[in-house]
Amino acid sequence: MLFSFLRSRRRRAIAERPFPSVWHDILRRGVKPWQWLDATEAEACRRWIAVFLAEKRFEGCGGFEITDEVRVCIAGQAAIVTLGLGDEWFGSLKSVLVYPGDYLVPRSTPLAGGGEIEWKEARVGETWSGGSMALSWPGVMDGGRLRDGPRSVVIHEFAHLVDALDGDIDGVPPLPDLDREAWLDGIAAAQERFETALDEGRATAFDDYASESDVEFFAVASECFFQDPHRLARHDATLYALLQAAWRQDPKRRVPARPSRER
Ligand SMILES: [Zn+2]
Repeated sequence: MLFSFLRSRRRRAIAERPFPSVWHDILRRGVKPWQWLDATEAEACRRWIAVFLAEKRFEGCGGFEITDEVRVCIAGQAAIVTLGLGDEWFGSLKSVLVYPGDYLVPRSTPLAGGGEIEWKEARVGETWSGGSMALSWPGVMDGGRLRDGPRSVVIHEFAHLVDALDGDIDGVPPLPDLDREAWLDGIAAAQERFETALDEGRATAFDDYASESDVEFFAVASECFFQDPHRLARHDATLYALLQAAWRQDPKRRVPARPSRER
């Protein structure tokens, strides 16, 4: 009790410090959706970023150097995702590991005749239950600058963190004010529509990595929900509404219908 009182007081003090102007410049350069926030949203994000950066450890891997640019670009993208969630600081997340590029993870596949083949898989991001998240810096930059269509590795990994808030990573985020069964039925129907579109070779709002599992469907659809909300709504207005209810915000209201990729 006393600990949580002191923690909220400390967070309030951090959030009330003046926001460094150099951080503003980084957000304007590196987090394109920042320009579409209204004044209240931008202020909420600034406070969230200040506390997040004060509490989480950032580590450079593979010789990568952590700078303010790196920390603020990651926190800036994550802050927008948390706008509807109130004071959610992701207590389970302790450190963010940043790599200079895609990183390789050793994998092995059993062979039919016995033995196994060892190989390496390239990844742009990952979240581990022990409290670490890994991100590739080029992936972070591409997502922040909307260079990779609706993809964003930061939003993807934070969607996994939000999914985990109710205890399980199962593709279902906490749904306090929603009818859970109705939400699950709605998502299952959206997954079916997505699979049918893939099978028939039709264009989809987001890429087929979403069909890996329920967990990846929620994370990949959420990337599109924040990065190109009109595209998601055009392809599947029902899925958009389900995500709007889960994330408790409506990015379509602020993001222009066709966000230009450059500025
Ligand atoms: Zn994932």
